[in-house]
Amino acid sequence: MWSKSRVSRSSRQDSFIAQHSIFPQVAAGRPDDNDLAEARQLGSQSREWLTTHPDWATAPRIEVPGHYPYRPTMNPPLKPKTSRQCNRCGICTAQCPVGAIDKNDPRRIDKERCLSCAHCIAVCPRHAKHFGGLIYRLAARQFFKKFSAPQKNCCIFRTA
Ligand code: SF4
Ligand code: SF4
Repeated sequence: MWSKSRVSRSSRQDSFIAQHSIFPQVAAGRPDDNDLAEARQLGSQSREWLTTHPDWATAPRIEVPGHYPYRPTMNPPLKPKTSRQCNRCGICTAQCPVGAIDKNDPRRIDKERCLSCAHCIAVCPRHAKHFGGLIYRLAARQFFKKFSAPQKNCCIFRTA
């Protein structure tokens, strides 16, 4: 949902809401038309700022607010399952960013390698990949309770 960097030389940095990849009920349908219009506006304002500030590359770096130091990464325990709908087309295997899906049997996932990014779920044309099980259902309920309120995109910082 969030994209931040600690220092920046741009005129402005915004965070945009997007549908959650593991719990897609949260922020379902985002970015929507309004989000995309805001993103386009941000793009044109940034382009204008860069055009009128030819020295931007040497401008002082701006400290961006955030939660520091970053927390160490963790491998989430939720891994996609595969139903009988799978016809071994190989799309998920080819597109998994870390090569965690077995080429010969797409139902087999290397759980140590898998990032739980849900890309294989999104690209499967037969909807054969999914998260499931008791832990997932409990986590989804908690997550939805905590984050179901609609959120606005927000500006992290803006220069004059
Ligand atoms: S994309 Fe879907 S149908 Fe194709 S191999 Fe992967 S799980 Fe099976
Ligand atoms: S969830 Fe992401 S990392 Fe894990 S198997 Fe699917 S595409 Fe690969």
